[in-house]
Amino acid sequence: MSLAPETRSLLEALGVDAARTTAGTMPSFSPVTGEEIAALTPDTPETAAAAVARAKEAFKAWRLVPAPKRGELVRLLGEELRADKVALGKLVSIEAGKSPSEGQGEVQEMIDICDFAVGLSRQLYGLTIATERPGHRMMETWHPLGVVGVITAFNFPVAVWAWNSALAFVCGDAVIWKPSEKTPLTALACEAILARALARFGAAPENLSQVLIGAGDVGNVLVESPDVALISATGSTRMGRIVGPKVAARFGRSILELGGNNAGIVCPSADLDMTLRAVAFGAMGTAGQRCTTMRRLFVHESVYDALVPRLIKAYASVTVGNPLETQALVGPLIDRQAFDAMQAALAAARAAGGTVHGGAREAIGSDAAYYVHPALVEMPEQAGPVLEETFAPILYVMKYSDFDAVLEAHNAVGAGLSSSIFTLDLREMETFLSARGSDCGIANVNIGTSGAEIGGAFGGEKETGGGRESGSDAWKGYMRRATNTINFSRELPLAQGVTFDID
Ligand code: NAD
Repeated sequence: MSLAPETRSLLEALGVDAARTTAGTMPSFSPVTGEEIAALTPDTPETAAAAVARAKEAFKAWRLVPAPKRGELVRLLGEELRADKVALGKLVSIEAGKSPSEGQGEVQEMIDICDFAVGLSRQLYGLTIATERPGHRMMETWHPLGVVGVITAFNFPVAVWAWNSALAFVCGDAVIWKPSEKTPLTALACEAILARALARFGAAPENLSQVLIGAGDVGNVLVESPDVALISATGSTRMGRIVGPKVAARFGRSILELGGNNAGIVCPSADLDMTLRAVAFGAMGTAGQRCTTMRRLFVHESVYDALVPRLIKAYASVTVGNPLETQALVGPLIDRQAFDAMQAALAAARAAGGTVHGGAREAIGSDAAYYVHPALVEMPEQAGPVLEETFAPILYVMKYSDFDAVLEAHNAVGAGLSSSIFTLDLREMETFLSARGSDCGIANVNIGTSGAEIGGAFGGEKETGGGRESGSDAWKGYMRRATNTINFSRELPLAQGVTFDID
């Protein structure tokens, strides 16, 4: 096949050998047009196993490079990303269907995590701990962990790799990345960008970072390999149910970043203008294809009529269109499967007594592209499809009267990723953030559920998998900890006063 001129020139500008993307058996499609845009040669379980062996060797050398020096590689990666921000952002738009602003925002997130990781490379510190034994010192040291297998979802095709790799590199680990089979081109572009940073850096071992193209069978090699110390897997809860037990069975370490069913609670005192804007972006942005997309909204009965009709109006007027040719706020769904899942959820919602506003397919571009109008569904109660994540722009809206009951309802779903409360009432706010409040990994006040910054640890509880990536102390997941006790005395006192005297 031949590449469209725009895709070809973008790949060339980013340094990807176009020949690698045209001669293979694995087609890649753009959701913007629905057309096949590339044909790649996938990896096989054998080539994936060979990559693991190479990464193991690279790790042995990289772990010996001082951490601040490792940080220099990530600093250079950040520089290269700055230079390629527009081009890479555009490729994200082509491959994942994001608006230019969201595509470039994703690259900015990569730059931000590089900056964070550079600083971190001088802060990988452990504690010194008081010891009960005289003449002793106890401390923690942190060491590189090994080979990190990064498996990523289509909807953040480049940022999630950067979250993991920037930390893994400064922590002294080698990385093998298995991107989504739906977004291989952006992965090859990242590989080329990193290659430029590695060339400037000069001192990294070969195969410090490798990309495997393919589907779950290729990722499975990483999942099952005892030589991959950490699997960081981002995707559906369905995938996590397969991957998690397999890694656990070999006592590997995993960071699972799985599905969300994120909710907002709108309280009587909420600033409704602000709430309206926050909900609109949180629920419709990225065509509902963020793990943190707002999917449920509980509105207090006293403000329901002041907010929900305005929200329905905002839904009716939102623009849907080709993200490369228009200024539309909502782009396409990734593929037909996503469209079918959305329609099935809307049918189930209707059957459960829901009133559906929007949700119809829009005739934009070819038959193979799936553009839909976002749907707002007024539900009588939280039941049926409301309990599950459907990866599409559907917001289920429910009325509540009692604060304690709405907290219960908020937490009564399988996923536990992101959550928001809209209130000016201190008691409601603090309760939502307290031990009996939101059970999610992310709990926000007066902002939406999506759009997290890299400085905080990112991830969620329950069926979201429990993993944390990105900021705060998430780096600890990429290193191994040793507790060291050093005796600088002439005695050998045992802990807990135990005696064991030999002559
Ligand atoms: P998906 O689960 O279909 O695929 C994700 C990745 O897992 C892909 O690379 C896929 O090839 C791989 N995979 C699938 N089965 C595998 C197996 N058995 N072994 C190894 N690898 C396997 O998800 P998707 O459709 O690409 O992405 C959407 C989902 O991802 C949503 O559920 C969304 O909420 C979730 N997501 C979560 C986060 C988060 O941080 N919590 C971020 C982005 C997306």
